[in-house]
Parts: sequence; structure tokens; C-alpha cells
Amino acid sequence: MTDKKTLPRLDLPEGVGLDTLAVREGLPASPYGENSEALYLTSCFVHPNAETAARRFADEEEAFVYSRFSNPSVTIMERRLAALEGTEDCIGTASGMGAILLMIMGLLKAGDHVICSRSVFGSTIKLLQGEFGKFGVETSFVSQTDVAEWKAAVRPTTKLLFAETPTNPLTEVCDIQALADIAHEAGALLAVDNCMCSPALQRPVKFGADIIMHSGTKFLDGQGRVNAGALCGPASLIRGKFFPVMRSAGISLSPFNAWVVAKGMETLSVRVLAQSARTLELAQWLEGHPGVARVYHPGLASHPQHELAMRQQSGHGGAVLSFDVKGGREQAFSVIDATRLCSIAANFGDVRSIITHPASTTHGRLTEPQRQAAGITQAMIRLGVGLEDVADLKADLARGLDALV
Ligand SMILES: *Cc1c(COP(=O)(O)O)cnc(C)c1O
Repeated sequence: MTDKKTLPRLDLPEGVGLDTLAVREGLPASPYGENSEALYLTSCFVHPNAETAARRFADEEEAFVYSRFSNPSVTIMERRLAALEGTEDCIGTASGMGAILLMIMGLLKAGDHVICSRSVFGSTIKLLQGEFGKFGVETSFVSQTDVAEWKAAVRPTTKLLFAETPTNPLTEVCDIQALADIAHEAGALLAVDNCMCSPALQRPVKFGADIIMHSGTKFLDGQGRVNAGALCGPASLIRGKFFPVMRSAGISLSPFNAWVVAKGMETLSVRVLAQSARTLELAQWLEGHPGVARVYHPGLASHPQHELAMRQQSGHGGAVLSFDVKGGREQAFSVIDATRLCSIAANFGDVRSIITHPASTTHGRLTEPQRQAAGITQAMIRLGVGLEDVADLKADLARGLDALV
């Protein structure tokens, strides 16, 4: 296997920085020498002869075979994201949820146990509890911030700890290093959903995480165009555990979507830093507004895990904030409906600011007691901050907020 033929690599200088990797890492150009990556819309690939085809299908030679499991546009995106996350390898998936599905299918079997924060993305809870519960994989849901609860939940069958930080919409931050230590002591792996920060702000492997999960739909694309996902980690997991499942299960990332995300990643750090700076400015302004009861953003000194967030997130709070207006649902709706720039939608990570009422949309499937336990009030508004002028965003929110006081 030592002389196994592998895909060519770019000859980048040793030790180049993340901004360089974001625009340069990928595959060598085709024989035509394109500067911007080509888009490979092909479902299968042609082999020079039957003998080579047989070797490639047997995985004795690495080459493109069939786009359910490999495609140059997808490989470019995977290499770029692995470089940014600082992992050996990456595998693209059809969506962020597809990435979690692939991870669980690749790692766990009936009887295995998962520990997961209670505050993660709603569909993640549904997938673990509902779908995987049916197949005998049990999940314990614990506090996002109380490390002792994670430790106490460990069982002999625990194989995976799953964390998301910061969470959405409350922006609660968990201690990645502490969770990695608990996982490794138990002989388990720690997976981190890095959607809210992206590698522009947070690289969970630095704090001991084993697997990084992404929704490319958010900041990686960054312009709200496509659904995509990925898992990053050591080659032993990506090639050894996840690639064989992908080959059979076909949760594949489309080449077109991969190409869009790869192009999006070229501007990831400039976008996320600019959006995060605007978000902090808006959060501080909202904290001083008489129509606002409470603001949630890790960049604020008032955030309960501010210090930890600054350590994990390169000193930045990220580009999502939430706030409670004074009043309830009626007042929150009036602020949302008074905006003229913000898009009323349920996404974030877009260059266009998006305003959301979590209690009636993203968290609408929960019961009112479940929502209250999670701290998501009817007065809460979430804002995924884009790249508009911050003065215009303040004016957009002030229109409704000023009317409340
Ligand atoms: C959006 C999101 C997901 C799911 O990603 P999709 O691409 O929509 O499947 C998972 N986790 C978090 C934190 C998200 O924001």
C-alpha cells in the first residue's frame, strides 16, 4: 500500500497562513490552467483501461470514480476546509444535518451511548433522540455550561460527546478543552459543531476536539445560496470510518454546492471578522436601549462565559446575537415587522442581516415549558448580522424599539 497512487497535491510553501490557505488550498488546475477553480459537473469519470478501472474501484489507486463518493469540486472544498480547521482530512456532505448523520452512522452501533448538550440545534436533538434512538443508540442530554453534568453522564458504553459552541439563539459557550478531557478519559471522541464561529474565529482541534462538524450553509458559503455540510478530522476517521458509509449511503455533497462553498471560503475570514465587529457594536447599542430587556452575545462583558468565549474564539464574539425586548410576543413581532432592511427568515451567516423570532420558528416545535426551560422567551429576537452599514442596521431596529418606550 506504500506505493499507492494518490491524488496530486498543490505545492504550497511550508507554513503559510490561514488566509493564504483559504484562497489557495485545493487541487492543481486542470491541463487548461484555469486560475479560478473549474466546476466539475460530471457524475462519473473515465479510466484509461479496464485494469486501471478495477484498481480504482478496489481503492488500490486514489482517483475520481463516481460523484456519489468523490468529485474534484468536492475535493477542493474538503481540502480547503481541512486546512482551515487544521485537521488532516475532511469529507463533504449534502447538509450540516447530513454530516451529523454520517458521523453517527460511521462511529456508533446499537447499545452505544452519546452525551450531548441540551442547547444544541433543534434538528440535532431530533436526529439523536428520535431517529438514532430507534436504532438503539442512546443519548443523554446535559447542561451546555456545567462540565460536571457531562462527567457524571459518562457510562462504559459512551463513545461520543457532541457539543455546539456558542449555541443558537442564547449564545451559551461550552469549555471545549474540558469536554475533550472527559471524552478522552472515557475512551470516547469529542465532536464539535463549529457552525456559529467557523474556523475564522474558532478551531476546536486546538482545544482537543477530535471531529469538527459544519453546516456549509452558514458562514462557509456566507451568501445564503446553498445547503452543504462537512466533517473534519484525522484521516483514520474520515477515510477509515466515514468514507465507506458515504460510498454506500450517498449523503453526498453536490459538486455545484461544493464549488459555491469553496469560493465562499475564500472570503470567510474578512466576512466573519467584519460581521462579528458589527455584531458587537449592535449588541452594545442594544444593551443601552430602553426598549431592550437583555442582550445575548459572547463579545459582551456581561455574557456569563465572556472570558472563555474570548479564549476559544480568538477574541471575537461572532456574528449572531439575540435580545429580549421589553414585553412579549406582540412587542417582538412589532420590532421585527418594523424593519425594512433585515430579512425575516430563519438562517444566519449570510451577508444580508436576518431577523428571526425563535419561539415561533426555529424553536416552534418545542412546547412552551420546553422553551422556557431552554430560556427562549416569546420576547426574544435573533439577529444574524450581515455586512450592511451598522448605522443602517441600528436605524432598522430602532424603528420598532423606539415605539416600545
Ligand atoms: C444550520 C445548522 C445546522 C444544520 O445545518 P444544515 O446545513 O441546515 O443541515 C447544524 N448546526 C447548527 C449550529 C446550525 O446552525
